[in-house]
Amino acid sequence: TLNVAMAFAFISSLFGDFMQALGASERIFELLDRKAEVNVSGGKVLDGLNGGIVFKNVSFTYPSRPDSEVLKEVSFSVEPGKVVALVGPSGGGKSTIVSLIERFYDPNSGTIMLGGQDLSTLDPRWFRQQISMVSQEPTLFATTIKENIAYGREASDEEVEDAARQANAHQFISEFEEGYETMVGERGVRLSGGQKQRVAIARSLIMNPAILLLDEATSALDAESEHLVQEAIDRAMKGRTVLVIAHRLSTVRNASEVVVIDKGKIVERGTHDELLQKGGVYKKLVLRQLSAGRAMPSINTDAADIEE
Ligand code: ADP
Ligand code: MG
Repeated sequence: TLNVAMAFAFISSLFGDFMQALGASERIFELLDRKAEVNVSGGKVLDGLNGGIVFKNVSFTYPSRPDSEVLKEVSFSVEPGKVVALVGPSGGGKSTIVSLIERFYDPNSGTIMLGGQDLSTLDPRWFRQQISMVSQEPTLFATTIKENIAYGREASDEEVEDAARQANAHQFISEFEEGYETMVGERGVRLSGGQKQRVAIARSLIMNPAILLLDEATSALDAESEHLVQEAIDRAMKGRTVLVIAHRLSTVRNASEVVVIDKGKIVERGTHDELLQKGGVYKKLVLRQLSAGRAMPSINTDAADIEE
């Protein structure tokens, strides 16, 4: 998934031309194995990953910071096909939850289940292909747009183009002289943030993941780009199990459940309406945003996370 891609970009920056000389798919899958802090191989491969996400009393401390517990007895679940929104102040542990789902780390205690199976019993190389992460700053590989979308899979040109159309990327790609064969990165074209995101979404669509992990912040994008990205994200969410680190009122409203996380603990949960009625932390954060003249309750305290 894209965290792997980020690791790739980092390692790639160390190895430079050496990495670029290898085929894209070889590199990607090699790095799937190399990246994980949790050094694992083997495990179960299932027919599919259709059973949602379950966290049961998950506590976690980063190995590099043994004195501070980042997640404390966190329990929640995302039923198959549903959308759950994680919200809360920066540093609360939202991104850490996503890293644990990708099994870049193991919890210190508690259980994470994917598709009804304990995550630690599944083959990481397999399940990471069933999960797709769309982040605020997707990393692309120094190769063609086509290879970036196909992501090391055997995808036909039609599949690549179809995914790009759904991701609102086909148009800008077609405007390049070399179309899908256009190289991106240092030695190719420089894509805007919104274009990169749409290529990343096309990649997600082609992976056809059961589970979509989303950091939906698009604050860096201009209004038109944001609209195109949002439309693409909405399409990508359909029919999938989605855990979204939510910044937009529209997403929070439509989520089956909103889970509010602060300092590693779940402090509130419910639907948007329930939480507003309850008049607790969530409502306070929403009101604070509204009174700050924002049209939506990003309840992330980072100014950069406040949008719309
Ligand atoms: P959020 O996504 O809600 O902003 P994070 O999950 O990124 O929160 O961070 C939760 C806490 O864990 C923060 O205190 C952060 O500094 C710490 N943290 C995040 N990533 C790491 C890491 N790789 N190593 C050590 N500490 C980390
Ligand atoms: Mg985060």
